[in-house]
Amino acid sequence: MSASFASIITIGDELLIGQVVDTNSAWMAQELNKIGVSIKHRVAVGDSWDDIWSALDEESKHASVVLITGGLGPTSDDITKPLLCKYFGGKLVVDEATLAHVTNIFVNRLKRPMLESNSKQAEVPDVCTVLFNEVGTAPGMMFEKDGTIFISLPGVPHEMKWIMTNVVLPLLPNKIHTSNIVHRTLLTAGIGESFLADLIKEEEAALPSFIKLAYLPNSGMVRLRLSAEGENKDALFELLSIHFEKLKAKVKEYLVIDEDLPMEAVIARQLKENGKTISTAESCTGGYIAHLLTSMPGASAYFKGSIVSYDNSIKTNVLQVPKTILETVGAVSEETVRIMAERVREIMQTDYSIAVSGIMGPDGGTEEKPVGMVWIAVSGVGKTISKCYYLHHNRERNIQLTALNALNLLRISKCG
Ligand code: ATP
Ligand code: MG
Repeated sequence: MSASFASIITIGDELLIGQVVDTNSAWMAQELNKIGVSIKHRVAVGDSWDDIWSALDEESKHASVVLITGGLGPTSDDITKPLLCKYFGGKLVVDEATLAHVTNIFVNRLKRPMLESNSKQAEVPDVCTVLFNEVGTAPGMMFEKDGTIFISLPGVPHEMKWIMTNVVLPLLPNKIHTSNIVHRTLLTAGIGESFLADLIKEEEAALPSFIKLAYLPNSGMVRLRLSAEGENKDALFELLSIHFEKLKAKVKEYLVIDEDLPMEAVIARQLKENGKTISTAESCTGGYIAHLLTSMPGASAYFKGSIVSYDNSIKTNVLQVPKTILETVGAVSEETVRIMAERVREIMQTDYSIAVSGIMGPDGGTEEKPVGMVWIAVSGVGKTISKCYYLHHNRERNIQLTALNALNLLRISKCG
C-alpha cells in the first residue's frame, strides 16, 4: 500500500495578494513528509465562502487528509468555522474545555475582561473532534467525511505549529496509512549545478526508480538530496546509503558536508570541535557574516566580535589600514583585506578572522573594479590567505554570496 496523500489549503486574502507569504503550508508539507505523507496539492484561497467550499470539494477527491489553515479568528473576515459547520452538517456548541482555557488566558495571563467575540472562540461544530490549542484561543478541529479526514488549524504560524506538533502529527498515523520517507543530503560548494550533473551522471543513471535525486541550488552552493519511500525504514536507509556513498566519493573535491546543514552550521561545528575562536572585519557585508555566525545557538563559544569598517575612516582609524594603501590600491584590494583580517584578529584576540571588501552594486563599479568584485581574506596563526571573487547578481545576493564564499574560504583555509 502506498503512502497517503495530503492537500493543504491556506485561507486569507492577504496570502493571495502576497502581503503575507504563506510559510504555513511549506512547514506543514515538510513535517508531513517526515512521517511518510506525500503532498498532493498546496492551494491558497481568499476569504471567500464559495472558493473555500469548492477547494474542500476538490481536494477531498485527491487526498486522504485535507489540512486547512487560517480564518478561524473572531473577526468578520474569518469565515472558516461557520463554513465548516455547514459543510459537515453540524451546529455550533460551546466546547467546555476550550472555554475554560480561553477564560484562563484572559483572566490569568492577559488580565483583561473577555469580550463576547473571545468566548465565541470556544464554540465548535458538534460534528468535530476538538484539537486543543495550548498557545492560543482558537482550537483546531478535525472532521471525517466519506473516508477523508479534514483538519482545520489557526493561521497564526506558532499556533498552527503547536497543534501540528503536539496533536496532529502524533494522531495521523492512527488514522491514515503512512510509509517511510528517508533522505540523505550532501552539501557542495564551488561547482555549478550543470557541472555537478555532468560529474555524477553515471551515479545518477544507476539509481533505482524508487530513489529520487534532487538538485537544490542555493546561494552559490548545491545540495544533492537522495530520497526513497517504502515500508521498511532500515532496509531503505541501507540501500539509499550505498548510492549515497558513491555520490559522495564522486563529489569529494566539492563536498562541504554529508548532512543537511547550512554553511554557518558547518563552520560553527568545526570551530567548536577544535576549540577555536573567530572575529570578522566587514566592509561590504555590513556585519552579515557576523549575523550568520551568531545565528547559531551557542555562538559565544567561538564568535568574539566584528568590526564593521564600512567607511574608509574606520579602516584607517580602527583597523590601521595605512592611508597610502587606500589612496594607491584602494579599499577593494588584496592589501586592504589582508591588513583588515590581521588587525581584527589581533584586536579581538581570536584564532581566526575573516575580512571582506568589495563593490556590491548597483552603482560604484569602474572598469578596473566592476560591480561584484570582492576581496576576501582569512587569517590564522602565522598565515593569511586572500582571494578575489567576481559576483554577478543584485546587491542582496552579492552580499549573501560574499558571506558564503568567505565562510567557505575559512573552511578550506587550514589556517591552523
Ligand atoms: P486569528 O485568531 O489570529 O484571527 P486565524 O485562524 O483567523 O487566527 P488568520 O486571521 O487567517 O488566522 O491569520 C492570522 C495571522 O497569521 C495573519 O495575520 C497572518 O500573518 C498569519 N498567517 C495566516 N496564514 C498564514 C500562512 N499560510 N502562512 C504564514 N502566515 C500566515
Ligand atoms: Mg483572523
